[in-house]
Amino acid sequence: MAAQSAYTTCFVTDPSTARSRAWVEVDLEALRRNARTVRVVAGSEAQLIPMLKANAYGLGMERVLAALLPEQPWGFGVAAVAEGEALRGCGWRGPAVVFAPIAPGEYARAAAANLALCLSDVEALRGWVQAGRSAGRRVAFHTEIDTGMGRAGFSWSEAAVWGAAVAALAGLESRWEGCFTHFHSADEPVLAPTDEQWERFEYALRNLPAPRDGSQRLVHATNSAAALRRPEYARNLVRPGIFLYGGEVGAEYHPWAVAALRARVVLVRGVPAGATVGYGATYQAARPERWATLAIGYGDGLRRALGPAGGEVLIRGQRAPIIGRISMDVTVVNVANIPGVVPGDVATLIGRDRDVEIRLDEVAARCGTISYEILTGLGPRLPRVYDAPDLT
Ligand SMILES: *Cc1c(COP(=O)(O)O)cnc(C)c1O
Repeated sequence: MAAQSAYTTCFVTDPSTARSRAWVEVDLEALRRNARTVRVVAGSEAQLIPMLKANAYGLGMERVLAALLPEQPWGFGVAAVAEGEALRGCGWRGPAVVFAPIAPGEYARAAAANLALCLSDVEALRGWVQAGRSAGRRVAFHTEIDTGMGRAGFSWSEAAVWGAAVAALAGLESRWEGCFTHFHSADEPVLAPTDEQWERFEYALRNLPAPRDGSQRLVHATNSAAALRRPEYARNLVRPGIFLYGGEVGAEYHPWAVAALRARVVLVRGVPAGATVGYGATYQAARPERWATLAIGYGDGLRRALGPAGGEVLIRGQRAPIIGRISMDVTVVNVANIPGVVPGDVATLIGRDRDVEIRLDEVAARCGTISYEILTGLGPRLPRVYDAPDLT
């Protein structure tokens, strides 16, 4: 069944073993609070279409979906047909929109799963209508309008031309459900490029033909950053992703932390001055030290770049520096300054331990990347644990 696929999974789900090596904790209540923030800021006219692509940014589609239902989303967004099928496998019957372009060979599957596609050209719409005809279904689509993102979408300045062609094809066999654009810089300090994109989008909307049947086309534009920083652009739907999952999108609102990354200490050893650690022996003890080996490595999605960038972990509420290169399966930290560390202790790579916290965005910045890439890179070897309790 699709719900068991890698697109939804919680991987190893046996709760008795999930926290034995390394794992991801997901605070679903924090996720809900973040969704509520977006909802309140976006206003009562706009409904949520949370993004569940990439297995809900690595945190597990099935549980994230269930956690968001009380926020009464209009629908959910995914990026691939297989993800849409997984969404159906989770039992979601409402709108499911595939936001990335897909290959023509996938239209039949998309129609069978009753997904809505986002289209960028008239030829694709013809193919989609044909797929719907074969499936005996009135298919739905949203037209993407490219206002500067450049990866997909109809041209904003030529809406009168393509709009007429799309309107001519939409009708009994297909439903033109929505029009949207996507901002490229809504999380940047300066919002002028976002405002310019919005003006282009509005220009395009003004030049589109009105729906013939008098129905309402849904208008949407805002990702997390735009939803919180330019709520006046929300219109009918808001499309939050990263903010739900605890990623920062600007100074105005801060998300509750949702994901924590933890690993067990599996070895603790005293080493003499001169001892080296890791491939390339890049670290050497200047004096006698205590090293703890953690059961997590880049094979779990822990970035190798974190080591040389001054990466730290929390053990017993204190910071311990990562030393040497991160291996595929293990990482070594110096615990010379933390008394009493023993195998079985929990090390926190992202998240809170007592009064200290390592934030997701802090780790991303150290690795020279963004929170999105850290979360979606968390590997299948890490069980996802939901609403996890204390650190024992
Ligand atoms: C991923 C995505 C979003 C969500 O963006 P965040 O920055 O994660 O909030 C919104 N819209 C589209 C089209 C997307 O692909």
